[in-house]
Amino acid sequence: MSTGQRRFQGIAAAPGIRMGRAVTVHRKYDSVDRRELEEHEVESELARFDRAVQEALHDLSMVQQRIAADMGEDTAHIFRAHQAVLEDPEVVDVTKARIRKERQNAEYLFNDVMHGWITHLSAIQNPFFRERTADFEDIRHRVLEKLSGVTGPGRESFSESVILVAHALSPSDTADIDRRWVCGFVTDVGGPTSHTAIVARGLGLPAVVGVSDAARQIPDGTLLIIDGNTGTVYADPDSDTLRRFEEAQARLSVYETELRTLVHLPAVTPDGHNVELGANIELPEEVESALRHGVDGIGLYRTEFQFLLDHALPTEEEQYKHYRTIAQKMAPRPVIIRTLDLGADKLPALETPEDNPALGFRGIRLCLGRPEMFKTQLRAILRASVEGNLRIMFPMISGLEELRQAMTVIRELQEDLDREETAYDRGIPIGIMIEVPSAALTASDLAQEVDFFSIGTNDLIQYTVAVDRGNAQVSSLYDPFHPAVLHLISGVVKAAHEKKIWVGVCGAMAGDPVSACVLLGLGVDELSMSAIDIPSIKKFVRSTSYADMQDIARAVAKLPTSNAIREYLRSRGLA
Ligand code: PEP
Ligand code: MG
Repeated sequence: MSTGQRRFQGIAAAPGIRMGRAVTVHRKYDSVDRRELEEHEVESELARFDRAVQEALHDLSMVQQRIAADMGEDTAHIFRAHQAVLEDPEVVDVTKARIRKERQNAEYLFNDVMHGWITHLSAIQNPFFRERTADFEDIRHRVLEKLSGVTGPGRESFSESVILVAHALSPSDTADIDRRWVCGFVTDVGGPTSHTAIVARGLGLPAVVGVSDAARQIPDGTLLIIDGNTGTVYADPDSDTLRRFEEAQARLSVYETELRTLVHLPAVTPDGHNVELGANIELPEEVESALRHGVDGIGLYRTEFQFLLDHALPTEEEQYKHYRTIAQKMAPRPVIIRTLDLGADKLPALETPEDNPALGFRGIRLCLGRPEMFKTQLRAILRASVEGNLRIMFPMISGLEELRQAMTVIRELQEDLDREETAYDRGIPIGIMIEVPSAALTASDLAQEVDFFSIGTNDLIQYTVAVDRGNAQVSSLYDPFHPAVLHLISGVVKAAHEKKIWVGVCGAMAGDPVSACVLLGLGVDELSMSAIDIPSIKKFVRSTSYADMQDIARAVAKLPTSNAIREYLRSRGLA
């Protein structure tokens, strides 16, 4: 029975607009019973636990194969990380040792081990790690399901379009659904970069996350409209919302058809200005998706994610293979490999307590402080450079001396490779991220000694306006259109062009058409973004004259506040 329309606002995690009946998913294992074992029961308990782990691994590999076939390897790799958790001695061996020692049931001890990990990961400041707790939750539920012999959520059968509503959905729940009927996801928790969001995007289904109390407030069977572009969910929509839904769906399908036709066309404005569009990737498997979205190259490969997923520092050979694969798949297109941007906020293995990790021992500072780790990575990149068109980029450079130290390490490695007669690209371009205000203000000197700049607006904004980019309490102050930010970007572009080097942007501003308009108008040569944003930015570039973009940027540069800037952009039909 309808109770009148209700509207829930969350975070837009995967685009699309769909309608369906709510199926609320309540997970069962918030607490797990404890049972003491007799001595003679221990061996059979260990065998029962082993079986559950093997069955969970088998299910995960089936999900992985299905996802690889349907959505490509780049999405399927998520489940490799899940399997790695169940192959990790810290999880399985520790549980078994505790079953032997403490003589308690497998459910109880496995649950306790997993809770320890989940608490540890959720305490880490970096959102990537916090969101990985969903992987551990997923594994916890899968194994507990196997131990108790019940089926997981979303795997029951449906006969009409449904939208899954849950407190949290694990990535494999998201991937393992009945795709004939499930047409969207709504969750109380989660962020836009969670694996659940990535899988939903890969499946082409809308997802809204972070709707604080949806699972309790939306009863089973409620008619829902989910708008994954704006992060809005309508329960029991009224006739006006239903009409707008139908209109929006019709518009969206025309727009998506149009975007698909752009994939193989260049990003060139109607007045002939060419823009390079690159993809940001975190893992080698994402290259296929980048190519499918019609990119000119990889503008940012965040190599630290490989380190994070593998739970250990990869060897030179392992890294070499990753870089070689990417270079070969992308050739002759360029691939910018950013050297490790790790810090206490990201990698527990390197963690030393720091009050301000964002201002601490991270990025190039950590690499220069741990030269063996840095050299291993640089040797791997240099060796792979003969296989394609690789470029090296240093993160978090704050000034000329730091840059020179990094360059010295490269020169020494090149001499070593010369002595060993190992081939590498002698002309490999070397660039830096401009994401620290001190680098932006000394860009003119830095530009003399590098081949390119890529402006990291995510960090540049946080350091310029002194706002932690992950802190929701101050997020309203995190403002890409703060005049100080635009002023710094404009200065960096001028400094780069005076020294005849190109300058790109690889922060999130690059993937937003309104910001991209201002950036291009300021003279930025390249934009690098999530692959999924490429088609809409290409469409924007192909339909807006460069003269207009320059005109807009000139006007914006004169305005004193971001409100005035946004208002002006709106008056020009943007925003
Ligand atoms: C940036 O800071 O804008 C950037 C692209 O790097 P990351 O988001 O990895 O810090
Ligand atoms: Mg950064």
